[in-house]
Amino acid sequence: MKQVRNTPAKQLISGLIADSGRALSYAEIQEGSAGKCDRVTIYRILERLENEGHIHRVAHSDGVVRYAVCSTCAHGSEHHHHHVHFLCRVCGEVTCLEGVIPEFKLPRKYVAEEMNFSVSGRCPKCSE
Ligand SMILES: [Zn+2]
Ligand SMILES: [Zn+2]
Ligand SMILES: [Zn+2]
Repeated sequence: MKQVRNTPAKQLISGLIADSGRALSYAEIQEGSAGKCDRVTIYRILERLENEGHIHRVAHSDGVVRYAVCSTCAHGSEHHHHHVHFLCRVCGEVTCLEGVIPEFKLPRKYVAEEMNFSVSGRCPKCSE
């Protein structure tokens, strides 16, 4: 029964993130859900969506954790994208640049397990 009760909230939150076309912070998600979900519910749903490969976490140097939609991750498998996240210093929006994947080579015996590429500057809306 718990599963059924949570479904509309889960759809609401995943739809919110998907429709925004950018990465949303917890505060923005809470605002977008218009008080329909409490704090714990939102965190649980975000965790579940992340585990299911629908969304990924975006960490940025401003310390705010945001969530963005996954376009290539399979449900239940590990996240496997290492694209750039762009933070606009003017409007504060964080966007996934899925086509931009930096390449580098680590020294011998260094094994990379997690990568986080973030770029700050001005987005197309703000650079004109
Ligand atoms: Zn993913
Ligand atoms: Zn901007
Ligand atoms: Zn992303």
